[in-house]
Amino acid sequence: ALYGAERRNSRGLALDNCRDQTALYAALHGQLQHDWNAAPMIGGEMISGRVRPVTSPHDRQCRVGQVWEADAQIARRAMESARSGARAWSATPVAERSEALRRAADLMESNYPTLIALCIREGGRTLPDALADVREAVDFLRYYATLAEHDLAPRTLPGPTGEENRLLYEGRGVIACISPWNFPVAIFTGQIAAALVAGNAVVAKPAHQTPLVGMQICRLLHQAGVPPAVLHYLPGPSAAVAPTLLSHPALAGVLFTGSTASARHIQRTLAARDGPLLPLIAETGGVNAMVVDSSALPEQVVVDVLRSAFNSAGQRCSALRLLCLQEECAERVLGLLSGALAELHIGDPLEPDTDIGPVIDEAARDTLDRHIRRMEKQQRLVACAALPPAAAKGCYVAPCIFELDDAGVLREEVFGPILHVVRYRGGDLEALLDTINASGHGLTFGIHSRVDATVRRVAERIGAGNVYINRDIIGATVGVQPFGGRGLSGTGPKAGGPDYLRPLVQEKSIATNT
Ligand code: GLU
Repeated sequence: ALYGAERRNSRGLALDNCRDQTALYAALHGQLQHDWNAAPMIGGEMISGRVRPVTSPHDRQCRVGQVWEADAQIARRAMESARSGARAWSATPVAERSEALRRAADLMESNYPTLIALCIREGGRTLPDALADVREAVDFLRYYATLAEHDLAPRTLPGPTGEENRLLYEGRGVIACISPWNFPVAIFTGQIAAALVAGNAVVAKPAHQTPLVGMQICRLLHQAGVPPAVLHYLPGPSAAVAPTLLSHPALAGVLFTGSTASARHIQRTLAARDGPLLPLIAETGGVNAMVVDSSALPEQVVVDVLRSAFNSAGQRCSALRLLCLQEECAERVLGLLSGALAELHIGDPLEPDTDIGPVIDEAARDTLDRHIRRMEKQQRLVACAALPPAAAKGCYVAPCIFELDDAGVLREEVFGPILHVVRYRGGDLEALLDTINASGHGLTFGIHSRVDATVRRVAERIGAGNVYINRDIIGATVGVQPFGGRGLSGTGPKAGGPDYLRPLVQEKSIATNT
């Protein structure tokens, strides 16, 4: 498809009525007015803690609700309660666990207005982003349900021993799911769904910035039949909660999505524990590049670059950070990109024509502003979008494009709407790929070229987990584009892929002399 025909996930069909804007707004109306609550939920019981108001990153005067936050003592209670629920859940047939996930998928579809409204209000996500977030969550639930039935049912292994040889998959125990704010529905749900269907109890810690939507998702999972003793919800500051989770003797593994530094900290903490060796699945950041050669179609490149770099205000770990343009096409592509940047609508994420909403909070905005000031001093500003005056009420960063002297200048992930560009000469392509690989990250990568031999060579040479050819580099589809990186970008296995459940179970071989 020339301009990338709209890609749709295979499921989530009940959300199709969201294409009717009037119906969508009618559905959202009540949810947007509501004052929402979240609190630690242990064994199905809500626990009160220190209370904190939740406001919108679009407008800090706009209150969304409040959260009662867990402390170390509440975290300990959650771990202990999860331990008590883990054994019976692991013994529950996998088909029953899968059915609970499917019911949760149905419930998420029918409760989409709540989830979308909260995504927009507390997460600052645009309407299309919020919709995609819910769709992806529904896809994770159904995909892992089917995968578990297929891969984790007990099997008999025929062979030469003359005995009955069975292979069983058991849950590991209590898995801590530590999720980010940028996909407060999809990643939050995906981690929990995988851990649960594999037979584990879960303590789910949402991101500090998005506790309200996580609470609703846990309620739906309970309503779908996940026992309250098996799924526990733990909103609270990482500094208060995470050390307790990571040091608790009941912990059997960690699913984490967030920064590389935090993943490394978790890995070190797990390694320093006494007792069993614990698995960690970490999905972290990337310094993601796209290479565009002179055979590419500039108009298509511009559409794909805009989407990859600025969708979700650049707050995706898959987002494009470094655009590499072959010299012959650089002026034309940069000219088109600058023109397109000026056309972007930045502002209230609830407005249907908004392309770019706020970044998540003041700390993110300040970090990005500092990066922009450094770039302005050291590199060339190509274009910068204008912020509307109302942006002063919230956490907005103007999308901008900088041209760098050298691809090696960008070493760290910049998590926001800032695109960096370098030019390269055709003969230097191999050296450019070496520089990209040398960042040590390896998450997403794109190539735009009409020369098949170049595409093949580049795709083979690049050290990235997700390679995209002649399209944008975000929005991996569950089940068909398993998502996750290598090196500094994550441990694997890939989320939404056929191997994701393996580290979450323990195998038991039973040989019976018949
Ligand atoms: N899976 C998302 C995508 O393909 C990115 C997830 C993330 O940002 O952590 O765009």
